Amino acid sequence: MSWPSKDDNSDYRSVLQYLGRACLACGARPSPDKALTRCSRCRRARYCGVECQKIDYAEHKGFCSAYSAVKDWTSSLDTTPNADPHIARADGNDGVTPWQDALDAYCKAFHRKSMNALLASLGPKRTKIANYLGYLVPRCLWCYRSDAQRTLAVCERCNIASWCAESECETKGRTAHEGEHCDECIELVRDDEYIRTTPNFVGLRYGTPRVLSPSSPAFDPSSFPAWSAYIQTLDLPGPLSLPSVINTIVTRQLSLPLTILAALQRFGILAELQASPVETLTIHLIGAERNYELIVGALAAEEILHVLPGVKTLEWFMVGPSMGKVGNDDENIADVESCPECEKAGRKRRIGWFNKRYQSFAIPSNPDYRKPHLAIGFNSGMHERPQSWGPVLDMLYEQGVPSVFTSYSLNEAKEDAHVVEKSDIPLMWKEERNLWRGERKQWDWFVEGGMWWENGYWMGFKGTKKA
Ligand SMILES: [Zn+2]
Ligand SMILES: [Zn+2]
Ligand SMILES: [Zn+2]
Ligand SMILES: [Zn+2]
Ligand SMILES: [Zn+2]
Repeated sequence: MSWPSKDDNSDYRSVLQYLGRACLACGARPSPDKALTRCSRCRRARYCGVECQKIDYAEHKGFCSAYSAVKDWTSSLDTTPNADPHIARADGNDGVTPWQDALDAYCKAFHRKSMNALLASLGPKRTKIANYLGYLVPRCLWCYRSDAQRTLAVCERCNIASWCAESECETKGRTAHEGEHCDECIELVRDDEYIRTTPNFVGLRYGTPRVLSPSSPAFDPSSFPAWSAYIQTLDLPGPLSLPSVINTIVTRQLSLPLTILAALQRFGILAELQASPVETLTIHLIGAERNYELIVGALAAEEILHVLPGVKTLEWFMVGPSMGKVGNDDENIADVESCPECEKAGRKRRIGWFNKRYQSFAIPSNPDYRKPHLAIGFNSGMHERPQSWGPVLDMLYEQGVPSVFTSYSLNEAKEDAHVVEKSDIPLMWKEERNLWRGERKQWDWFVEGGMWWENGYWMGFKGTKKA
């Protein structure tokens, strides 16, 4: 089969563009003598001038009308009296307190509701850019109010974080943000600009980094204290060796196979597989989505074959109702070409995709199903749909499958762990930072003080027959 690919990054916009701190069309930053102008209708998109606004119109008009229809309430985050951050924080009630939890929960619920309203309003005009414009509404870092409600001041250093100007939020927000958080924002801007301005960057994204030599069977994920140590063992060609590219591409891709290898080790399976390899290694990716588990992950999955050179076939089976079609098929299995060294040794990846719930896939009468060596849900977000995850968790537990789930942030990991525990499944480990997360930081107003990572945190359980 051939790989889905894209040749350019023309639909890539940076966080600065989405936040309205650079022209949405060309990425130009404002200068002292030339401010950005707002789209007069939605008051959300900003441009360096009329030319750029015209160029962007075809892309923008769908968002513009949809957002105009819902913006009045989606930008009007209302704080309830007992969740007013100004009151509670003035009491010295800082940090994680029941009040803070209530505010966070309240803001997240608001965020989810307003995104849903926007998406409904967009209907079929939904695009990635429209989605992010709705998602990254500029807000006060401290009280979460939007720029439609308050005048926001922006951090001069990173140009990302903002807070209500001339209020308590300014001091509190700045103090919380200065230092590590601001540094992370600066890195994020740097990586974003690199992607946006590098021609054919997206093509690079799909290249398989040549990883450890296939003859290194003693690979031990726990011997690497951090990504940097592991990356030193890679032989990365030209542009892939730039630090920002390592963050945005290399760790992003390799996060999937490395998290899997580290999980196999944690369950005590890796050493076993290295000592006596199986012919076929089966990994089930549950709640999989085409864009992540296939496009980002499946190429880099070859790293698993490099670490376990005795394995002849890696089954990378992606199952989930959001998987979508690949080509014309809702489900199918295809062998994909490996790197020359693996080809010579007869090693291959068998990619399977099943656009359905795991419960209807993992049944004994399905000839494509065999008990996996590991089941993994990347960035599962299971706390958002606990009812549909419950039966899957039960099934994995009862079938004795070693199972791992990752989450974007610590807060989400806690909520996900709660879902597992509510199913009476004991976790072997929970809410731990995943060493093999995608190192590219991503911005969000409502989670983790604004930052999340693909596979940021992880947890696992090893199924045994339920009593
Ligand atoms: Zn422009
Ligand atoms: Zn507009
Ligand atoms: Zn504020
Ligand atoms: Zn800053
Ligand atoms: Zn290979």
